[in-house]
Amino acid sequence: MMKYLQNLHTHTNFCDGKDTPEEMVQAAIAAGLTSLGFSPHAACWYSDYPLPPNGTDDCFHEVERLKTVYGDRIEILQGYEFDCYCGHDVSRYDYVLGALHNLYKDGVYIPFDRDLANMEKQIVEHFGGDGLAMAKRYYRELCDLPSYIDADIVAHFDTITKLCEKKPFFDYTCKEYLDAAFEAIHALVPKIPVFEVNTGGMARGYRTAPYPTAPILKELHRAGAQLTLSSDCHDRRFITHAFPEALDLIRACGFGEIYFFTKEGFVSQPLY
Ligand SMILES: [Zn+2]
Ligand SMILES: [Zn+2]
Repeated sequence: MMKYLQNLHTHTNFCDGKDTPEEMVQAAIAAGLTSLGFSPHAACWYSDYPLPPNGTDDCFHEVERLKTVYGDRIEILQGYEFDCYCGHDVSRYDYVLGALHNLYKDGVYIPFDRDLANMEKQIVEHFGGDGLAMAKRYYRELCDLPSYIDADIVAHFDTITKLCEKKPFFDYTCKEYLDAAFEAIHALVPKIPVFEVNTGGMARGYRTAPYPTAPILKELHRAGAQLTLSSDCHDRRFITHAFPEALDLIRACGFGEIYFFTKEGFVSQPLY
């Protein structure tokens, strides 16, 4: 059974994670990873992610320092979790995760992935109580991701389902939902072929399975997408959370290989 030895999606106490970057590096080494990427959230004026004004700069410099201390034991990469509407310059980063955490509708930015009460409120206020309408809106906006950023990886593609195990805001197995998701897959894959399988919702207790769900993974396979695996780590105890289960799911959905990011680009490794 292969092991996946990279995590490109990690958050530290410079944004909304629990640990320092150094603690994260030490945890990654202890877990046997050969490559670790930091991906601080975009600090957005419309978002309340607890990122101080200089957070991304301070994080960047600290990660550069860690490269000099730990670089002989683990490859350390500088990434960024770009939000569709943040408009930030990301040219200094090794790679970019492209994500959508807020919808833009009715002239306001609508966060949808915070907690059950917030999701409920936004569905009532902006979608007439129709959760499926919100999900369809999410995929429509996500289709435009490549117009905002030349991202390397699509992060947590179906994160709109994050809270749906806790409360069925919409049926994420129904045809109408899957049609909207599949349309986004076929819009995105030709421009950003690499999608992330993300176990962060499992680590944080929202979900019992990784993102994306199996029907979406199967469609990604049909569309020719390539996958990476991360734990969207906000707590170093979960640096490789549920990686074996996620690899099983990826295989079961038809994929024969998985991808690692290197400074020379993505390289594949067969799944066995
Ligand atoms: Zn995210
Ligand atoms: Zn993240």
